[in-house]
Parts: sequence; structure tokens; C-alpha cells
Amino acid sequence: MRIAVLQFAHETVTFLPNDTTLEDFTYPGSPASGEALLTHDPKSYMGGFVKVAREYDGVELVGIESPLWPRTGTGSGWITADAYETFLGRMVEGLRKQGPFDGVYLSLHGAMGVRGVARPEADIARRVREVVGRKAFIVGTFDPHGNEDAEFLAQADMAFTVKYFPHYDSHLQGERAARMLVRAVRGDYRPETVTVKVPIITPTVLQWTGASPWMDLVQRALVWEAREPDLYVNVFFGFPFADVPDVGMTIQAMSNGDPVLARRAADDMAAWAWRRREALLKTAQVYPIPEGVRLAGEAMARGETPVVLADHSDRSGYATWILREVIEQDLSDVLVATIADAGTIDALQAAGVKAGDAFDREIGGLADESAGQPVRVRGTVAGVSEVQGALRVAVRFGRGNVVVISRFLVQVIDPAELAGPGVDPAQFKAIAIKSRVHFRRGFDDSGFARTILLVEPVEPFLGTVRLDGLPYRHVDLKKFYPYGDVAFP
Ligand SMILES: [Zn+2]
Repeated sequence: MRIAVLQFAHETVTFLPNDTTLEDFTYPGSPASGEALLTHDPKSYMGGFVKVAREYDGVELVGIESPLWPRTGTGSGWITADAYETFLGRMVEGLRKQGPFDGVYLSLHGAMGVRGVARPEADIARRVREVVGRKAFIVGTFDPHGNEDAEFLAQADMAFTVKYFPHYDSHLQGERAARMLVRAVRGDYRPETVTVKVPIITPTVLQWTGASPWMDLVQRALVWEAREPDLYVNVFFGFPFADVPDVGMTIQAMSNGDPVLARRAADDMAAWAWRRREALLKTAQVYPIPEGVRLAGEAMARGETPVVLADHSDRSGYATWILREVIEQDLSDVLVATIADAGTIDALQAAGVKAGDAFDREIGGLADESAGQPVRVRGTVAGVSEVQGALRVAVRFGRGNVVVISRFLVQVIDPAELAGPGVDPAQFKAIAIKSRVHFRRGFDDSGFARTILLVEPVEPFLGTVRLDGLPYRHVDLKKFYPYGDVAFP
């Protein structure tokens, strides 16, 4: 049994001004093929897929040259037509040259936004299908922030989507994809799928599955899977910061040759989500940054530390709103991680920056209006480190504060990631990070933080919870709860 393995994944914030380019996908290690592709991410989808596929005798995995995640992470906008066509063209060519294949694994995300391509994941599946033919089985793995409609499963046979946010089960979904692909090729599983769009659009910061009702939504899917052998239920929460036609919540159900069962499960999940739509929108308090920073100061004074200030809305990494308030409200012992500023990093690198250097520069801001104005920081370089080939510089300023400057947006998930030259996360009373929900893994579920404050700028910039402040062109918000008078089903 020959299985082709491909990856093309991005979570595109289409409102960002910087396109995701060919260069962003091209760096040491990317694109990857063969064993390098198969082993590049052992703890995630790919690792799970490869682990289980290789438990079967007679299964050959062929890693087709694919781009890994762009260097910009989630901090870049529309993928250029050039980048998309170049890589997909090479992937299709690789399939053609190295075929024939009985099955194909697509490691996807689901919220890819490509200039001129309305539904990229479905388009990838369609182009792969053209090469491998109708007899081969195609399975994809997805992030719950994917924006998908029925088109993907019209082209591919199966999909497995991570259930939790933070995304704890990506390895598990990769394992399932492998097992079901092998079974389908052997004729032991005949996928019958149903896709239902639910007209609910939610900002990602509200979608934490550590609390109800999002926790209950996941639980309902798990109960369906427990009750019915060979039934799988996917819930896409959706990614509202991609201005694409298939935005919003999506349910997929898949059964073994039983379309009635798949329909029943999908309709039940969709109806449940719709019944709980009000509660799904009321899961988190988000403070304007000046108030959030004031509340952080009060929590520090009461000793309820460490405090986490999570700016969920910064999509470029350059936003300086919290840094500005920390300085204006004269807080002490705060770690701000990070402020992205490629120009400053390049200049510091050229100057041979080292610990102990005096520092006096304006940093961050200006990437777009949501990033705010640059902020002048006067202090001392506390440490310099290199992460994935890019410099990070920690600057000590004020009364025991440190700001970490990075080349790209850094979504900090665990306090341990911040440890490095000049930075000991344990020494701070407050840590300001850029993250929506993923930080809960290392800051909340772990018991680390005593106070957690979700914040965003006063104005509804591109990462806001106030989605009606965003300049959508391909989405009519009136067709979604809570922005329109919508009937469902
Ligand atoms: Zn996600």
C-alpha cells in the first residue's frame, strides 16, 4: 500500500497588510520531502499519522515535497497566488512522478487564505484527486479554526479535526487519519460524510474549550463517537479573521457506510450549537488595555501574582498598546513578550548587539493601525538569544521590567518558552503576552497564573471581538449570529 504524504497549512489573517510570500515559506528545512517531511513535527498531526501508518505491515509512506509553516507563523496575510501555485504545482508534480498511490494524507489547517482561490483546501484536494484518480482515498487533518464548507469532502474522502482549544489532540487526529486511511484502502471502511454549516461566527478568544459551553460542544462530539463505532464528528469553530466565503462554524460527521447515521449526528450537533448560540458568545470578559493594565496593577498590589495580561487581538505581533500602558501607569516587574519589530532586530544584529549594551530606541508599532505607534524604550540589553534562526533581544527598563523584541509575532504558550539569556519568567509579577487561548496550556491549565486578564485595544482593530468593526468584503455578517436576524436550520 503506497500512501503519499503532503502538507500545506496556514492560518491566514487576511486583514494583515503583509502578504504571505514564497520567501516566507522558504527557509532552511522548508520545503521538506521524504523523511524530513515525515519527521518534522513528531508531536502533532504528522507525527501521529506517521506513527500509526508505520504500525501496519506493507504500508509505504512517500513524503512529497511540501512547504512547512511560513516563518511568519500566523502573523501574515493573504498567501500570494505565486506562492500557492508554485508549491501546489510542485506537490502535484511530485505526486505524478512518484505515483501511483492508494491513499493520500493531506496535513492541512483549514484557514488558509489565498489571493484568487476561494476555497484553498478543497482546491488542493481537487488537484490531488486529478492526479491520484477516483480509486485512491484522500484524508485531511484540520485545525478547529478551519473555515470549510461541503466542498472539501466533495473532493476528499475523510477529514479529522482537532477537538480542543488549546489544540491538545493534534497527534491523536493524525493517528486516526492513518488508521482510517489504511482501513479505507483495504475496503474495511466506506466513508459516508455529511457537512453542515452553522451560521454562527465567533472571535477565537471566546472559543476556549476549558469552559462551558465550548467544553460541552466538544463533549457532545465525543459522546457521539463513543456511542457509535466508526462514527467521527468534527467541529470547526471557524476563524473569523479570514475574509473568505466559507467562514463560520461547520460540523462534519463521517460513518462507515451509513449515511443516515452521519446525517443524524451532524444535524444533532448543529442543532445543539444553534440552541446554545447565546451562551457560546458569552464566555469571556475582554477589557480595554488601559483598564486591563490598571487591573493588573491592582492584582499585583494584592499579591495575586503572577498576573497574565493576554492581548488576544494582536495579529502582527507589533502592537505596543500594553507596553505603552505599562510605562504610563508606571508598573514594575512586568515582562512584555514580545514586541515584533524586524527593523529593530536587523539594526541590532548589524550592530553586534550584546548583553550590557545601553538601549534607547523606538520599538514596535506601525505594522498597521492595530499595532499602534512605536514606543521609546530606554534601558539596558539584558540578553540576546536566537530562536529558529531569528534574534530575540531582551531589554531591561524602568523598575524591573523587561521587554523582549522579536523578528516575528510570537504567541507564547508556556512561561518556560520565555526563559533565556537575561529573562527568568519566575522573577516577574506580571507577564504580558500575545495569545488568545493557546496560552492557557502553560499559564492556566498548569496552575501557573493566579490572575488572568484578557485585553484588546480600545478601538476595534483587526483582532477584535467586535467583528462588525472589520472590513469584510467576502463575508456578509448579517447572515451570521449574532450580527443578523438568522433562521436555522
Ligand atoms: Zn487553531
